[in-house]
Amino acid sequence: MRLVTYLDPGGSPHRIGAIEGSEVVRLGFPGLPAETLSMRRLIELWAHPSDRSKPVATDERHAFTDVRLLAPISDPPGNVICLGRNYAEHAAESARTRGEEVARPTFFTKALTSIIGPYDDIPYDATLTQELDWEAELAVIIGREAKKVSRDEALEFVFGYTVLNDISARDIQFGYGGQYFYGKSLDGACPIGPWIITADEVPDPQNLAVKLRVDGVTKQDDSTRNMIFDVAECIATLSRGLTLLPGQIIATGTPVGVGFARTPPEYLQPGNVVETEIEGVGTIRNAVVEVEPAN
Ligand code: MG
Repeated sequence: MRLVTYLDPGGSPHRIGAIEGSEVVRLGFPGLPAETLSMRRLIELWAHPSDRSKPVATDERHAFTDVRLLAPISDPPGNVICLGRNYAEHAAESARTRGEEVARPTFFTKALTSIIGPYDDIPYDATLTQELDWEAELAVIIGREAKKVSRDEALEFVFGYTVLNDISARDIQFGYGGQYFYGKSLDGACPIGPWIITADEVPDPQNLAVKLRVDGVTKQDDSTRNMIFDVAECIATLSRGLTLLPGQIIATGTPVGVGFARTPPEYLQPGNVVETEIEGVGTIRNAVVEVEPAN
């Protein structure tokens, strides 16, 4: 099932729905006012072992082309958890450029306020950054509380998947002594979507093409099979020490082909359109648009 958060044609915000053919069907739960339903709440109700109540279709439906898709989940239980350098070739290109070898992927987070919708604009403010870069990533959505989960059972805790572009301001990330959090958390730096596809429709998350194009030119083209920590290992490793909650977003790292490691380096400019695609999951498309400078 493909689950969306959307504005209906009347502009009513944050409807939760499922895509059925060419339509979006609004979802609800018996006994729960539809207005109070968020994607996180839906995941909590649906995926919890003692609840297991599935959402039901309401009689509200719209043509897919008449709604505006928002970020499929905008209220995760915390910042987006990210893996850095989780593909060997990307780790190598980073090491060539930055001179720092790493033996294992690193974990960091992006502020949840950086999340934007699948077709929203990525703000460009040259007074903040002039080195805005792309990172195509498969994002995992956790379905139920995961604590000290073994690798073998880890995928049972996945609710679904979405597409994420880990937009990174390299001059901030590598400046000021190293600022992953701020450099990757600018407003608009986390486009996701267009939907959450439930895990049952992604039988093998380690065999998906990962592609990114800027103005139609391919910049990244790899496969999730080349992850160092696969999805199960990400969940097992993280949950050894920290509890993952329903709705948690985990960005699983980007493959080779980012802008800063190119010769010469390439960065996003106002007017660019970035398409991020995960095979079998979906494609998001975001224009880079100049905004009022910060004071
Ligand atoms: Mg990344």
